[in-house]
Amino acid sequence: MPKSSLGPTPKSITGGCLCGSVRYKITYPDDHDFDSSNYLCQCTQCRKQTGGLFLVSQQVPVSALEWTSGTETLKEYAASESGRRGFCGECGSVLFWRSVAGRTISPTIGSVDPLYLFGEGAGARFGGGEDVPAEGFGRVLCSGTYVEWCANEIKGVTDDIPLLFRGKRLQGNAED
Ligand SMILES: [Zn+2]
Ligand SMILES: [Zn+2]
Repeated sequence: MPKSSLGPTPKSITGGCLCGSVRYKITYPDDHDFDSSNYLCQCTQCRKQTGGLFLVSQQVPVSALEWTSGTETLKEYAASESGRRGFCGECGSVLFWRSVAGRTISPTIGSVDPLYLFGEGAGARFGGGEDVPAEGFGRVLCSGTYVEWCANEIKGVTDDIPLLFRGKRLQGNAED
């Protein structure tokens, strides 16, 4: 069973882009540890690509992620020699970051379906909602293990968000 110190964990989740073209499913390995696989990033690339002040992602083995639809609109942007940034070419949703050399991929938490993120529709979808807690799995998914590029903190704004102070704070990238 995947583990977390923060509450019940999902065995699998689904997500996708804004236009509904690209859809994915993540099936967590039995030994997946949510406490050590979450990344919050304030680097300029994440900001420019998302338009948000920080990006939240979770690292999983490539084999855990299955694209269930829309791979024809799935694009990758090579923002650096070593990294690729995945997005939907139709609606622009940012879907993942991956290292070219690595065996892991980091899907964005914002692209996770609302059911898993904050429990929207939990009871209706599962008749009683036993499979997904009423509040979803958002806290577990956003555990805040690594906070990257703290050097790019915006004074009075991103240095005033408790979530960005929970994990290990780094000036640049976390070691993969
Ligand atoms: Zn799309
Ligand atoms: Zn970043």
